[in-house]
Amino acid sequence: MLNSLQKEILKLKEEKNAIILAHNYQTGDIQEIADFLGDSLELCIKASQITDSDLVIFCGVDFMAETAAILNPQKKIILPDREAECPMAHMLPAEDIKKAREKYPDAAVVLYVNTLAEAKAEADILCTSSNAVAVVESLAQDQILFGPDMNLASFVAGKVNKEIIPLPEKGHCYVHKMFHTGDIAFMREKYPDAVLLVHPECDQEVQDEADEILSTGGMMSYVAQSDLKTFIIGTEVDLITRLRRENPSKIIIPLLSEAICENMKLHTLEKLKNSLINEEYAVSVDKEIALKARKAVERMLDVS
Ligand code: SF4
Repeated sequence: MLNSLQKEILKLKEEKNAIILAHNYQTGDIQEIADFLGDSLELCIKASQITDSDLVIFCGVDFMAETAAILNPQKKIILPDREAECPMAHMLPAEDIKKAREKYPDAAVVLYVNTLAEAKAEADILCTSSNAVAVVESLAQDQILFGPDMNLASFVAGKVNKEIIPLPEKGHCYVHKMFHTGDIAFMREKYPDAVLLVHPECDQEVQDEADEILSTGGMMSYVAQSDLKTFIIGTEVDLITRLRRENPSKIIIPLLSEAICENMKLHTLEKLKNSLINEEYAVSVDKEIALKARKAVERMLDVS
């Protein structure tokens, strides 16, 4: 049952011919009224298919809204809170990629979609946590500069027969860094029959102890298709909100209930309403940068 604010937002959305895209880490009240909910790859694909909306309200972090702007230069892309930034995306300035290219002239540059537009413009191809291995395997080069997440880099290195060089050396997501093997031991003892799913942004030793390493979209499909009953989920807590809503007969437990991305949580229903009324805060990307970045995004979408 929707509350009055949610209903008001849906009415405004109709009036403005807007679409609301939301990441899986948004709070449940935003998830409930989003037109589309997904992980970075799913949102990227959705953003590339928007045709009939005048306004795109993006409940996610800066790099996601920028990607939507890169793919839709003619549309107005709105971030309800302009401070919603991904700290990991800011760990890799474009300048560092240029320097790394000079040091490794034969390497391909594969960047996680969690990068700013300026960095994307320096990449050969992008990837997300759900397609990173396929993207790296699609390239002719055997040496890959991979950034900015060192844990995703190490996950990919374990799956492909290529040299993966993390860029920067220690780029990471502070949320997925919160998980430790002690949390796993505790939960395994408490729920011995549960399956443990963790995100590839988790540290290597956490990945080593998981049953499956999956993107949030991969976790959604895994739980929906599994005949098993109990799942422990090692990613941001609001993915669990969505999993529980869409799988009411299953038991979904967070590996760590403190794993909260404060940056994602900057968006609220009030701010979402304001973004529809005042069309703020518009996200724009420099034309030349957008053109270069778009090529790297489109190469990834071709692989996907
Ligand atoms: S969960 Fe991590 S990678 Fe995702 S937006 Fe938050 S800080 Fe960035």
